[in-house]
Amino acid sequence: MVAKSALLFLSRHEGLKDFATQFSPLKRMTTRFVAGETIDEAVEAIRAINASGASASFDHLNESVASVGETEAEVREYREVLARISETGIDSNVSIKLTQFGLEIDPELAYRNARAVVADAAERGNFVRVDMEQSSVTQVTIDIFKRLRAEFDLNTVGIVLQSYLRRTYRDAEELLEIPARIRICKGAYNEPPEVAFPDKKDVDDNYVRVMKLLLSSGVYHGIATHDERMIQATINYASREGISKEAFEFQMLYGVRRDLQVQLAREGYRMRVYVPYGRHWYPYFMRRLAERPANVWFVVKNMMRG
Ligand SMILES: Cc1cc2nc3c(=O)[nH]c(=O)nc-3n(C[C@H](O)[C@H](O)[C@H](O)COP(=O)(O)OP(=O)(O)OC[C@H]3O[C@@H](n4cnc5c(N)ncnc54)[C@H](O)[C@@H]3O)c2cc1C
Repeated sequence: MVAKSALLFLSRHEGLKDFATQFSPLKRMTTRFVAGETIDEAVEAIRAINASGASASFDHLNESVASVGETEAEVREYREVLARISETGIDSNVSIKLTQFGLEIDPELAYRNARAVVADAAERGNFVRVDMEQSSVTQVTIDIFKRLRAEFDLNTVGIVLQSYLRRTYRDAEELLEIPARIRICKGAYNEPPEVAFPDKKDVDDNYVRVMKLLLSSGVYHGIATHDERMIQATINYASREGISKEAFEFQMLYGVRRDLQVQLAREGYRMRVYVPYGRHWYPYFMRRLAERPANVWFVVKNMMRG
């Protein structure tokens, strides 16, 4: 727990990235969780993912944009990604974070920027997933998503909910009324007990409750987890309720449980791999380490190998 908090603390200090990037063994380690720094590198990673039977979702890493100009650069980046998906024919959609589009500068700016990307995806017949970030922006993220969803159809824009949040079951019920395509995940940020379940068991129980609600809704959702118990609960529930394998997809992160990704795809389940890329990989990378402090040992071993 201490190791997790320390890693999450370090993840918020991007100044340390300068140190980290100069440290070549650590840089090499990032290639396990990050597909590269450029769109081309991510496209190559996605070709390999597609060849293994899975689809993908691009995630341009850049969580700390500070100016309007930088948010507009994010929009250009995502439009370029959508164009490259069309040109190359790879099987991929995109995931966006509203803070990258200026949520902390001005929610209207974030809405306009997100809208530009969603409109582009709509023209191309692609799909944009709005990621969920820290709890201070949960409500505004949902509000902006609802505005986008009012204008664009079910298969153009979707959202994410986190099972560690106490509010999530109610949010899922409300969003299903629209309806909306939802990715359920456990949640990756450090949250206080007032808003998030402190105990893993409660997070997992809530995950299963929300998963059942989603699968029974008849809408195509994403079940994002590497937890074999959550995956088994999903498989069991779907088979008990006669819900077909095509009615939902499993989602996992690039570089995490690759064995399970391939196995589920071989068993005929839909699998989507979330592919982060970009120069600003540091906070993302540190959060992945925090999820599994055993990964720190993996880093240390790599460092020792030089
Ligand atoms: C496709 C996708 C999209 C996501 N989008 C969001 C989002 O928008 N917002 C958000 O807050 N979070 C997001 N997350 C992260 C998520 O909230 C969790 O932090 C993360 O998935 C770990 O939770 P878990 O369900 O795998 O279960 P855990 O209980 O954390 O892990 C279960 C098992 O999975 C394996 N595992 C998990 N993580 C790692 C790792 N880093 N390295 C190696 N093994 C690992 C281990 O074997 C572990 O025992 C996303 C996750 C996925 C898969």
